Amino acid sequence: MGERVPKIQMKAAVLAAPQDVSKRPLKISLIPQPELKPGHVLIRVRACGICRTDLHIVEGELPPHRKGIIPGHQIVGEIVDGSTTDLPPGTRVGVSWIGGVDGTCWYCQQDLENLCDAPTFTGYSVDGGYAEYALARTDFAFPLPAALDDLQAAPLLCAGIIGFRSLRVAGVERGERVGLFGFGASAHLAIAVLQAWKCEVYVATRGASHRQLAASLGAAWVGSETERPPVKLDRAVTFAPSGDVVVAALASLRKGRGCDQRNPPRPHSGVRLRPPFVGRAPDSKRCEHDPLRCPGFSPGCKRDQSSAQDHRLPAR
Ligand SMILES: [Zn+2]
Ligand SMILES: [Zn+2]
Repeated sequence: MGERVPKIQMKAAVLAAPQDVSKRPLKISLIPQPELKPGHVLIRVRACGICRTDLHIVEGELPPHRKGIIPGHQIVGEIVDGSTTDLPPGTRVGVSWIGGVDGTCWYCQQDLENLCDAPTFTGYSVDGGYAEYALARTDFAFPLPAALDDLQAAPLLCAGIIGFRSLRVAGVERGERVGLFGFGASAHLAIAVLQAWKCEVYVATRGASHRQLAASLGAAWVGSETERPPVKLDRAVTFAPSGDVVVAALASLRKGRGCDQRNPPRPHSGVRLRPPFVGRAPDSKRCEHDPLRCPGFSPGCKRDQSSAQDHRLPAR
């Protein structure tokens, strides 16, 4: 175990009561630094990303779990207490939206911990990273590669994981032609992964600025929201919450290829648009990741979180 950190006050952005952000519901307050609990590490926060979900929490669109919560679920920090052999003192770790699972429910047993019946959510059901220090479950604190600086790493811990998981669930293989339908926070990070995998990327998205961004990030083709790419695709991932987009994505695929649907209309909730025809070829061996059975809930499981950091091809 690491050295005990003397109990001191820390600064944190505390949500007293959700309300419109124009009313400044987050208050920077001095509160006691969290006390170490068994199975946890105490982290000195170096950076924390800001996600749309934080806004939903702060404004009360997601019903409050706890009064006085500290939001923030893209935490980069270093371990100052509770260190283990795997996570020695000073290890730089990332903590994301899923702050813990029970490990015992049916979903956890099926390697679907992202659908756990009794999860904890960082910055929502437990305090998050808008603070000088944060407590995180040891098994949900992931060492970060040194090549990524703090500010690069933080957004990977939510949008990055979601994008990466989408590629994994869609079964993307190296060198394939992949369509991204919608091009927001997750997709614009996923394209970097696809390029590392030598994939050709076709982007259909609403909004000229998103199309420009896709082109500048190396998309082989860029079109409007429901436009069909000029070639048949091996995989398509829809990030836009629109049924028309799903149809366009399906129409762009080679026969029998995979289409995965991401992007819940409400972040981190289930995918609502789930047409019965979205799915993988029936011969899929990886039926546990068939979007028909494993829809929505986009934050990835541990496997996504650790491999998203270095663009490794997903484990099969
Ligand atoms: Zn998020
Ligand atoms: Zn569970």
